[in-house]
Amino acid sequence: MIQSNYFTDNSDLVLQVEQIANWNEIVKEVEDGFRDAKTYESSKDDHFAMAPANTKDAIDYYYSVLDSLGELMGKEVAPRSAEMDKIGLKYDNGKVVYPDAQNYLYNLMRESGLMPIGFSRKYGGLRLPVSMGSIIIEIAARADSAFCLAFGNVNVAEIVERYGSDEMRDAWIPKFASGEISCAMALTEPNYGSDLPNVQTRAVKDEKGVWRITGAKRFITHAAGYIDAPCAILTLARTGSPTSGARGLSFFLVEAKDVHIAGIEKKMGLHCSPTCEVVYENSPGLLIGEEGFGLVKYSMGMMNSARVTIAAQSVGVAQAAYAEGKKYAAERIQFGKPIKDIPAVAKMLDRMERELAAMRCVVFEAGRCVDMYIWRKEHFKHEGLSEKEAKADEQIKKWEKLADLFTPLSKYYASEQCVKVAYDAVQIHGGSGFTEDYDVARIYRDARILTIYEGTSQLQVVAAIGGVAAGMAPNGFLREYFETELKTFTQSAELKKVFEEFDKVAQLYRSIEESRIKAEHAWETVESAARYILGLLMERSAAKLKGEQKSERLDLCRDFNIDSLAIIAGNLVKLEFARAKDSVKA
Ligand SMILES: Cc1cc2nc3c(=O)[nH]c(=O)nc-3n(C[C@H](O)[C@H](O)[C@H](O)COP(=O)(O)OP(=O)(O)OC[C@H]3O[C@@H](n4cnc5c(N)ncnc54)[C@H](O)[C@@H]3O)c2cc1C
Repeated sequence: MIQSNYFTDNSDLVLQVEQIANWNEIVKEVEDGFRDAKTYESSKDDHFAMAPANTKDAIDYYYSVLDSLGELMGKEVAPRSAEMDKIGLKYDNGKVVYPDAQNYLYNLMRESGLMPIGFSRKYGGLRLPVSMGSIIIEIAARADSAFCLAFGNVNVAEIVERYGSDEMRDAWIPKFASGEISCAMALTEPNYGSDLPNVQTRAVKDEKGVWRITGAKRFITHAAGYIDAPCAILTLARTGSPTSGARGLSFFLVEAKDVHIAGIEKKMGLHCSPTCEVVYENSPGLLIGEEGFGLVKYSMGMMNSARVTIAAQSVGVAQAAYAEGKKYAAERIQFGKPIKDIPAVAKMLDRMERELAAMRCVVFEAGRCVDMYIWRKEHFKHEGLSEKEAKADEQIKKWEKLADLFTPLSKYYASEQCVKVAYDAVQIHGGSGFTEDYDVARIYRDARILTIYEGTSQLQVVAAIGGVAAGMAPNGFLREYFETELKTFTQSAELKKVFEEFDKVAQLYRSIEESRIKAEHAWETVESAARYILGLLMERSAAKLKGEQKSERLDLCRDFNIDSLAIIAGNLVKLEFARAKDSVKA
């Protein structure tokens, strides 16, 4: 693997952070009147010592976090990634044994204090916005996608901070934030993966009022604990009748010592991430929040941040693939020249570069949408206002709706593209790419899961299609969003054309009556929406740049939009046939 600072060596990411991102609006929401800095001034409580006192402080702090992380990931983790993958994990009687290097790196990461991304400062967290978290995950995933899950998993415990009781928060969050305890999210069961509303693990209260959980969960990352940190398994279980559906499900915190880890999976990739089978037998659990809200409120409430995390992981893995492909293409000589100068290879590299830039834009935008409503909701809570009042707030309504569309759309798009970028990176390596001598084989294997976990691409399309269809109605929220954003830059003729073609696809989709035909064409419709949205975000980003940087980015935009026109033209043909089939049925 390339060894360097994985933040500062990545010119596109640096552009995103330094020039493209609008941190002002995000910092305003996250810091909420720089409340934590004021607390520090009055109390001198060390927990708040790093709280920024103004926007510039916050941005400088973000930069220093990314610089330190880039150093740690690029110079400590990346050089050990291949070795850890080769050694893999050993499972012995409920215990997982990790490669020594992973022990060393986990300790380094805990010491760095960079792990607790979104927790509150009073509990030892960094209180970083989701959009910053996405960059952190990207940098970590580029170094090692399996190791990166240590970040992702501990941060799922934010569900406890957001929805747990004060007592639960005080007892658990500082331990999650310090890395003393690890965290797992246990939703999937052998018979229920995508079909979460039907999970059957049971929770019943015993005579002493303790919840007892019985059932089995499958594919649970880190449930056995991570390195030397025992695990708190956040478990979705049924408190209602077996047929009570989503509203009969509640969330529990269950300690790993109270369950049996029946085994870990032997997997295609992510060799150093334990994927566990968990058996609960009257295991005691602490109820998180209220009964019946486990899936419909708590899981769903965290879903947008979780999807951004996997989308960001996809950008990181794709960045690793691109960097390795580019390096190899510069070194490998065929027909008397480096293969990067052969048009067919250059074409692959160019496509990888523009897809990566576009993925980064949409993942950041998804994070922005989440940041623009979650911190404001927290502000309402802090001010003692009700959830109903928060829901009625225009800003919250607008951004939550956008986040509900942008997060599944970015998870679907970034993970699918990551697999394609990794595929091309192997192709560029020729036969060497098929050996384990080069990093691309591991990167390719690790990429494959991204379109599957945290909801498959098909399920992301199911989650996004309603927003695309409603958003593209005559006064739909997506049209409004486009109009607002298009006022900030002058769009190209190509982008205008992409919109016209996408709009045709969207209107055809909207006009289909038969639900099966609609479901069959949701993919093409969401893909067309993604191509337009990414094109728009790319051109918006170009408008923030100057000189050579701007003209280089506009070149990427033009080629991206041409690809989009070709893709949407194919989708249009399919939608026209679908519409005709629908008319015959009607
Ligand atoms: C390495 C790894 C780590 C994981 N970590 C965790 C974890 O920490 N916690 C956790 O709870 N789970 C975890 N999972 C589980 C993961 O989230 C599920 O595998 C995933 O959600 C898909 O569920 P499934 O495997 O049961 O597939 P299924 O639901 O059986 O799906 C099979 C196929 O049918 C399609 N399909 C199913 N329903 C629909 C539908 N309604 N519309 C369209 N297509 C549909 C799917 O897209 C897929 O192509 C992990 C899995 C792996 C492999």
